[in-house]
Amino acid sequence: MTTDVSPTLSHVSARTEAYLKDKFFGHVIDGSVVESIGGATMPVIDPSTGIEIATAASGDAADVDRAVASARRVFDDGTWRHVAPLEKEHRLHRLAQLIDENRTIFGDLDALDAGLLRTYTAFLEHFGVNATSYFAGWPSKLHGSIPPVPAGMNVQHRRVPRGVVGIIVPWNGPTAVVAMVAAALAAGNSVVLKAAENTPMSAVLMAELAVEAGIPEGAFNVLQGTGQAVGAALVEHPGTDYISFTGSAATGRAIQTAAAKTLTPVALELGGKSPFIVFEDAEIEPTAAAATAAVWSGQGQICTAGSRVLVQRSIHDEFVAAMVEASRAVTVGHVFDPSATMGPLVSQTQLDRVVGYVDLGRSEGVDVALDGGLAGDGGFFHEPVIFTGVRNEMRIAQEEIFGPVMSVIPFDDEADAVRIANDVEYGLAAGVFTNDLRRSQRMIDELTVGTVWVNTYQAGYPTVSYGGVKQSGYGRTLGEEMVHELTHVKSVWIAQ
Ligand code: NAD
Repeated sequence: MTTDVSPTLSHVSARTEAYLKDKFFGHVIDGSVVESIGGATMPVIDPSTGIEIATAASGDAADVDRAVASARRVFDDGTWRHVAPLEKEHRLHRLAQLIDENRTIFGDLDALDAGLLRTYTAFLEHFGVNATSYFAGWPSKLHGSIPPVPAGMNVQHRRVPRGVVGIIVPWNGPTAVVAMVAAALAAGNSVVLKAAENTPMSAVLMAELAVEAGIPEGAFNVLQGTGQAVGAALVEHPGTDYISFTGSAATGRAIQTAAAKTLTPVALELGGKSPFIVFEDAEIEPTAAAATAAVWSGQGQICTAGSRVLVQRSIHDEFVAAMVEASRAVTVGHVFDPSATMGPLVSQTQLDRVVGYVDLGRSEGVDVALDGGLAGDGGFFHEPVIFTGVRNEMRIAQEEIFGPVMSVIPFDDEADAVRIANDVEYGLAAGVFTNDLRRSQRMIDELTVGTVWVNTYQAGYPTVSYGGVKQSGYGRTLGEEMVHELTHVKSVWIAQ
C-alpha cells in the first residue's frame, strides 16, 4: 500500500473531487466534524487499488460518550422530538432532496471506499433518496390508539420514540443506511450512527446535509472506528436506549450478549445463506441470468446473495451450463470502468476469506464448473467461482462466504427442495423459480425465511418490511414495521 494518488480518484466527478479536497472523515458530533479525543486515525483504502485515499477518525469510548451525550441532550430538551409533525416531515423531505442533489458525490464515495461498481452505487443513492422520502412522510402518521376500557376512565396508547438510537452498520451499502437514520428521526429519536470502519465517508456527508436540512445539531451524530473500540462501547453505553444492528451473525450474538447487561433492546439484521431454487419448469436462460446476478452483484457481498443454487436434477446440467455461459460475460474491473460488471472485494481481509473458502471447496472434493481466481493488479479482485456437486452439509454450503462463490446443489422433488433450503442456520431470504402457481404457494408456506421472492430475486422497496429469522436475526427494517420498532407504546390512564 502507498499513499500515492489513487488512479480511481481521477475518475470521480469534479464535485466529488472538490468535496474530497483536504477532507477529514471524522466523527460528526453536535453538527461538527471532529477528531477523536485521543487523536487516533485510520486510513481509508480504495479496494480497486489498495491505495490509501483519505484519513478517517478512529474513536474509542470517550468519543462514544461525547456522541451519546449530544444525542441525549437533543432528545431530553425536545429540540427534535417536540418539532411539530409536519415540520419534521418538511425537514426530512428537505434531507431527501439534498441527498438527491448530492447523489453524484454519494455514488462516488461509495464506489471509492466500499469498492462497489459506480453503476451499482447509483442504485444505492436512488434507494437512499426514496427511503428518506418514504420515512419523511411518517411523523404525521404515527397514530396511537384508544383501547376500550370500563366507564370512568380514558385510556390512550401513545406511540413514543425510543430515545437515543444507536445504529451500527456494515460496509456493503454505505449510503443505503440513510434509510434507517431517516426512520429513526421520523419517529422522533436522536441517532448515533456507527459507520463501518471500511466505509467512513458517506455517513459524514449524510450528517452534514442533515444539519443543512434543519435537523438540529446533535439529533444525528456519526462515530467512526472499529467494532471493538466504538461499536461495543455504544452498545454498552447506559445512555443508549435502543440498538439497530446490521452485520454478521457472530457480531449480532456478541451485541445481544452485551446488551443484556443494560437490557437495551436490539434489532438484528444479520447474514444469510439464501437458497435460489430452480424447478424444472422454469425458463432456463433468464433464470440462469437471474441466478448469476443474485450472487455476482456486489461481488457476492450482499446479505441476500443467492449463494446456494438448488436445481432440480432433471435440468441440472443444462442449467449449470447456462449459468457458466452467463458468467463468462462477467468483466472484473475497477469501479469506475463502465465496462466492468464485477468490482473488487472490500478489503484484503475479505479477499483472504474468499480465497480460503475457495480452497476449502476444492478440498471438500466438489466439481468446479467455473474456476475463477485472483485477478487485477493491486486491488482486491476475485473472479466468480461456481462449485457443483455440493452437498448441503459442506461448510461452503452452510457458511456465509460473502464473495463471488456459488454452490450448486441438486434436488429431486419439492419436498427435497424444502428440506435442503431450510437445512441451514440462516433464514434471511429465498427465491423460487417455477411456472407452477400452486407449487409456488406451497413453497412460500414452507420456507423458513424473512423474505420469499417468486420468479424474481432481491427486489426491494422502502415500503416493504425486511429482515430475517433464525441466525439471520430479528426485528424489521423498512416499511411501517421499522417505524413501529423505533417507537414504544406508552399506556396512559386518565380518570374522568
Ligand atoms: P460485522 O459484523 O463484522 O460488522 C458490522 C458492524 O458492526 C461494523 O460497523 C463493525 O465495526 C461493528 N462491530 C463489530 N464488532 C462489534 C461489536 N463487538 N460490538 C458492536 N459493533 C461491532 O459485519 P461486516 O463484515 O461489516 O458486514 C458483513 C455482514 O453483514 C454479513 O454477515 C452480511 O450478511 C451482513 N449484512 C446483513 C444485512 C441484513 O440486512 N440482514 C445487510 C447487510 C449486511
